[in-house]
Amino acid sequence: MANANQPTFPSKPNVKLSNPTAQKLHLKLDYDQLTNCMRCGFCLPACPTFRETGLEQESPRGRIALMKAVVDGIMEPDQPFQDQMSHCLGCRACEPACPADVKYGQLIEQARDAIEEHAEHSIPVNGLRKVLLKEMFPHQGRMKWLGRSLAFYQKSGLRKVAKGTGMMRLFPKHLREMEQILPSATGKGVVERMGTVYPAKGEAIARVALFRGCIMDVLFADTNVNTVKLLSEAGFEVVIPDEQVCCGALHAHSGELDSAKALARTNLSVFKEAGVDYIVSNAGGCGALLVEYDHLLHEDNEYHSLAKWFAPRVMDISKLLIDHGRLPAFADSSASTEDPITITYQDSCHLRNVMKSASAPRQLMRQVANVQFVEMKEADRCCGSAGIYNVTQPKMAGEILEHKMEHANRTDARYLLSSNPGCLLQMKLGVAKHGDSSRMEVMHIVDFLYERLLETK
Ligand code: SF4
Ligand code: SF4
Repeated sequence: MANANQPTFPSKPNVKLSNPTAQKLHLKLDYDQLTNCMRCGFCLPACPTFRETGLEQESPRGRIALMKAVVDGIMEPDQPFQDQMSHCLGCRACEPACPADVKYGQLIEQARDAIEEHAEHSIPVNGLRKVLLKEMFPHQGRMKWLGRSLAFYQKSGLRKVAKGTGMMRLFPKHLREMEQILPSATGKGVVERMGTVYPAKGEAIARVALFRGCIMDVLFADTNVNTVKLLSEAGFEVVIPDEQVCCGALHAHSGELDSAKALARTNLSVFKEAGVDYIVSNAGGCGALLVEYDHLLHEDNEYHSLAKWFAPRVMDISKLLIDHGRLPAFADSSASTEDPITITYQDSCHLRNVMKSASAPRQLMRQVANVQFVEMKEADRCCGSAGIYNVTQPKMAGEILEHKMEHANRTDARYLLSSNPGCLLQMKLGVAKHGDSSRMEVMHIVDFLYERLLETK
């Protein structure tokens, strides 16, 4: 018999929908989550797109109401509806603000997955999605080839030719700006440089596996190398399984859930085989999907138990160092206690809102001698990077970045640190466009710490 004190949720209405996208949305959206939203609006101030526009439809509450209206058969999933689903950054700042614990991140992924099945993209967008999501990111060998090609372009003089001949003007302005701030690419990733096992310094506290990431290992390979060395200094034996693949985050956020699941299954088998205590991520965007593999595969009878083993073992490097590491001493030798250098930090949304690791990076930064950590106003607000959002939604991403840089510049920091490749690129772009590159350097927190390790190097 039903307990009278237990809340009851309305079940999904049995409506007849003729639109194929509406049918998919009806099938895929979790109705309990949709009805769980009590329209309180507590999430509105946390939402960057609502803050920028002041429009209800650009808020989490508005987007949930739109999704529910389609599932209830009240409205069609027309272009304005689909645009709203695309405008969401997926930063998930609305989740910690929600008293009803609405799983907004799951809803937006379900909505995008449903929309994508019948989406009609322009030819260039279709081509770009196919090349990136299907032909490049899932294949480590092709990513290495991309890294080598990009490195050749950057070093051989081709870049100068492309600029000099005006060829770059064929690309949209935001892509040209992004090209300018790309770090040096490489086809030589962390495994090629360090092998697949790296010993702990001193007695090993634990054996950990590095999740190297696909973009990280091409554009931030030095950071991956520094991550391994820092883990070793802190007492961890590090293994880097070479068969690991892309985490699938970009796929999940772009409506390609089946591809994300396929990548997750490969990673689960590879990391289980590695026999490790923890899986370490140095990229908030990747780590956030890795910790949710158990949800991603909750309907997969074969892999769900493996995913439940895996997910709680995933940790961001800052949290692993703080919670379990033998922390070495850090100091900035160019500064002094009387005249410290100033640093600030931009949160990775997924590290903060999904992996719940906001305090560990700050604790680490505060341990560096001769360094003064200054909290940036609204450091917890998305920078506009959000995977490939700054490529697909350049206008909104640009507005968010401009406001972000107003706060960053006010800190007067010498270094702006972050923990995710997308945030690092976006903040580099921000400093180039709205700051002073000669006074503020953008760095991964791992690189900053590794360069300030005392004694042992
Ligand atoms: S994920 Fe971010 S942008 Fe999207 S609704 Fe939530 S707070 Fe707003
Ligand atoms: S805070 Fe949660 S319950 Fe309130 S409107 Fe936002 S999503 Fe709905």
